[in-house]
This record gives sequence, C-alpha cells and structure tokens, in this order.
Amino acid sequence: MPVPEVEELIALQQLDRRVVALEGAARAIPPLIQELESRVQGARGAREAAREANAQLEKARRLKEGELKLVEEQAREKQARLYEIRKNEEYSAVLKEIELLKAKRSALEEEILHLFDRIEEAGRTVGVREAELREREADFARLRAAKEVELERLQQEIGEFTRRRAGQARRIETGLLQSYTRLLKSRGGLAVVPVKDGSCSGCFVALTPQTHNEVRKGEVLVTCANCQRILYWKG
Ligand SMILES: [Zn+2]
Repeated sequence: MPVPEVEELIALQQLDRRVVALEGAARAIPPLIQELESRVQGARGAREAAREANAQLEKARRLKEGELKLVEEQAREKQARLYEIRKNEEYSAVLKEIELLKAKRSALEEEILHLFDRIEEAGRTVGVREAELREREADFARLRAAKEVELERLQQEIGEFTRRRAGQARRIETGLLQSYTRLLKSRGGLAVVPVKDGSCSGCFVALTPQTHNEVRKGEVLVTCANCQRILYWKG
C-alpha cells in the first residue's frame, strides 16, 4: 500500500494525465478540419479549371464558326462575280480563288467538328469535377459537424477535469505539490510510478534491496535514486 500522501499524488497524476490527453485530442481537431477544408478547395480549383478549359474550347469554336461564315460569304460573292466577268484570264483567277475558299471552308468545318468532340469531352470532365466537389463538400460538412461536437465535448471534459484536478491539488501539502509539479514537467508527465520487477517503472533502473523494502513497507515517501520520481508499491 502506498503512503497516504502518495495515494493523493497518484490520484492527482491521473487527473493531470487525463487533462493532458484531452487537451491533445482537442488540439488535433482544428488542423483536421482545416485539412478537410483544403481538400474542398482543391476540388473547387479542379472544377474551376475544368470549366475554364470548357469555356476556352467554346470560345475557339465561336471564332472558327465566325471564320467559316466569312469564308462562305466570300465564296458566294466571288461566285456571283463570275457572271459579270468577261475576260477569260480574270475568270480563271476568280475560279481559283473560289476553289481556295472552298478548301479553307472544308478545313474549318473539320476543325469545328473536332472542337465539338473536345467540348463534349470537356463537358463530361466538368460534370465529373462537379460531382467530386459536391462529394467533398458533403464529407466536409458532415465531418466538421461531428468534429465540432467532439471538440465541444472535449472542452467540457477539460473544464471538468481541470476543476477536479484543482480540488485534488488542494489536498496535497504545498512543498510536496511543488516537487510533484516539477517532476511532472521534467519527467514527461510521470512523477509518481509503481515499482515493477524490482525496478523503477519510470526509468527502469533496478532499485537497491533497501529502497525496494522501504517502498514495499509504505511507511515513508521514497524516491528513485536515478530519476527522482516518487515510488509506490502496487499490489
Ligand atoms: Zn527512476
């Protein structure tokens, strides 16, 4: 059995460790929410890029259609002129120009068809990116709501355990409480440890038979000669 003041310290340490664990869990939540939010931003960026690519193709198509219209008009005008031409030389020159315009028209029609294919594909990509974004947004909304509830619960628990911790600390004599607090800080959150297999379970160094016996008897407060942690007998 540990000495009574050590029992009080064990209870205090349990509360201290609980508060530290709860604070750690609470601290992990905001970065997690932020990470989820940045995934939504990523999906939104991908959707915008897909929309932009689609808009660019539409713009290219409109330009080509404008060019096509112009070429068709030019061909019609030249066709009409043919009837007014009297000289053979001029006639064949205009005829040649008409042929060139027809070739240009075919090429443009080909390009426009190709653009339609690409626009269709780009439209499908926009649809896929939209669906991905909606999915990410739904995930984010759901997870954020859950995490916010969790965070609120953790903060309540932190408050509760901090109050309990303060109450427990008042049960301990000031000098001992100060030593305990120093040890807790310098020894990774473990100031009071049980003896295990003849060793201090904080630093794993074997105790002398005398120290071992003193801890077992539980009459005085015993500390580890190596790490200065407060020892107790468990069992
Ligand atoms: Zn030790």
